Amino acid sequence: MNTPLPSRPPIARPRFSVSISARVLISTASAVTLVMLGFIHFFVVHQKETILAQNERTMILMIGNISSALRTIMKAGYAHIAQEFTRDIRKNPKVLDFRILRINGQEAFLDNTTIRDVNRRLGEEEFTPRDHETSTKVLEPDNPDLQTVLKNNRIVTLLHEHNDEDRVTYLAPIERDEKCGKCHGNAQNPRGVMMITTSLAQVEIDIEATRKEALVVAIMAIFFVLLLIYLMIRRFLIKPLGQIRGAMARVASGHLEEQVHVPGHDEISEITITFNDMANRLLLTYTGLQQEQDKLSTIIIGAQEGIVVTDGQQNVVLVNPAAERLLGKDFEQIRSAGWENLVNDPEYLRRFVTQGGHDMPNLLVFNNRALKLHAATIHAANQLPIGTSIMIRDVTDEKKLEDKLRELSITDALTQLYNRRGLMEILEKEIKRSHRYNHYLGFLLFDVDHFKKFNDTYGHDQGDRVLQALGRTMKEHFRKVDTPCRYGGEEFCVILPDTSPRGAYIVAERFRRQVEAMLVDNLKVTVSIGVATIPATEVNKVDDLIKKADDLLYEAKRNGRNQVKISIHLDDMDAINQEIDATS
Ligand code: GH3
Ligand code: MG
Ligand code: MG
Repeated sequence: MNTPLPSRPPIARPRFSVSISARVLISTASAVTLVMLGFIHFFVVHQKETILAQNERTMILMIGNISSALRTIMKAGYAHIAQEFTRDIRKNPKVLDFRILRINGQEAFLDNTTIRDVNRRLGEEEFTPRDHETSTKVLEPDNPDLQTVLKNNRIVTLLHEHNDEDRVTYLAPIERDEKCGKCHGNAQNPRGVMMITTSLAQVEIDIEATRKEALVVAIMAIFFVLLLIYLMIRRFLIKPLGQIRGAMARVASGHLEEQVHVPGHDEISEITITFNDMANRLLLTYTGLQQEQDKLSTIIIGAQEGIVVTDGQQNVVLVNPAAERLLGKDFEQIRSAGWENLVNDPEYLRRFVTQGGHDMPNLLVFNNRALKLHAATIHAANQLPIGTSIMIRDVTDEKKLEDKLRELSITDALTQLYNRRGLMEILEKEIKRSHRYNHYLGFLLFDVDHFKKFNDTYGHDQGDRVLQALGRTMKEHFRKVDTPCRYGGEEFCVILPDTSPRGAYIVAERFRRQVEAMLVDNLKVTVSIGVATIPATEVNKVDDLIKKADDLLYEAKRNGRNQVKISIHLDDMDAINQEIDATS
């Protein structure tokens, strides 16, 4: 065998642009990042609120302290020190504004309104009025925030932006107690409102710093989480999958003995076990197939029959040595010339293969050998044709033997002439031919005279030798186109194609004379001959022609033997006899 059987082309593999690890990492990173960002957002917002709340608590505490300090000073009767105290607080750079308001929204400590009221109550201990009065309205009397503070007696916090800077203003009630009433009366509670405004810039800076720290921590957390995930994916997914992938590639390239180490007890392990099992089964099947193929190859290589196989595309894929020998061509020559040119008759072979060898001659002569062809379409399991096999059998010897047997079957063993069967076949053809072409046909039937007596006198062997001598004489005497036969016993016949009755008679008479003159072991015999002819004889069938000749033969016997009888009257019999005499 010159080539392996054709195999299916390998399946085109898609190129992996994104690996599983990258995909898992990307999706995990997206999920983790989203969660972390949500967490950071929550943390930052919460942190901001916490810082603001802390700031507010501190401020409220501070307001309480200032308020109690102011009240202590005021109750001690040092209103001018209280005014100074408020001015000092205002000088603090972190305090953007600080004022003590009356309940009508006017700033206190700047005019004589309160001093006059206080002096009316105090009598002789009165305060010295101010030289310069300033009336400053800070809030409208009906300001809702101011009203809230006064009605609810609680601190109101106001957040507002000022030149891109967040500020917070606290409005805190200044509560009245009994001692206050001594100077200011008991009519109002709260007595006034403390207004303090501070910047939130530092708080914002703290919040921003917290935000950045949280971001750094989050990025690091994301990085470490992803690193951890990557290492786990690598350890538990990528590495074992890579091992299976590599093993599969090796199995695909023919290394069916490949086995993969089973790493643990998870799904990958199950895949690995299944893969190992599959590879084992493949190996078993492949080994079995290999053995079958080896057997088949041995049979095909050793076959006496030539075998040529094509694939589905009609390319020659297999030529066994017997085919090379029978066709006198090697595989490469056959492959390149194509299967149609196996026996140098493409049209015949194409039709032969198409018809599967049916209703066509399957015997042909090629390279002086008689070859018998057989063609079959090879079908796959799904019945689709996948190729053609052409088997070539050398039947030269068989043919010779067959021809020999046939020859023997129509040859008489004693005389080597055609026997009766041979006679019948040839005579039938010749009768048809003479009718078809309207040609003459002469038929001689003769019998040895008194042969029984001859046998009795000289013995049967001597009789046989006479019959053999007659056979040789017939072969010599008649033309090549004539057919001498032994009809049976001591009866013989000769088919004379294209011979007129006159010619047939002359041939018969000459032969009769030759036999008469013939010496076999110094012994002589004579023959009586009946001559039937076509068309002179109105017969079409073999049996009728023989019967006609036989009748004439017996007429010759009855008439005295050693003579020729013909079916028709020949006018110039004298001239014929003279002609025969002249040439004898
Ligand atoms: P007739 O002139 O009437 O033909 O007389 P005949 O004796 O030849 O006729 P018959 O038919 O009575 O005898 C034929 C004889 O031919 C009988 C047989 O012994 C002999 N014979 C037939 N076949 C063979 C043969 O193969 N060899 C020999 N030696 N003799 C044969
Ligand atoms: Mg006879
Ligand atoms: Mg006889």
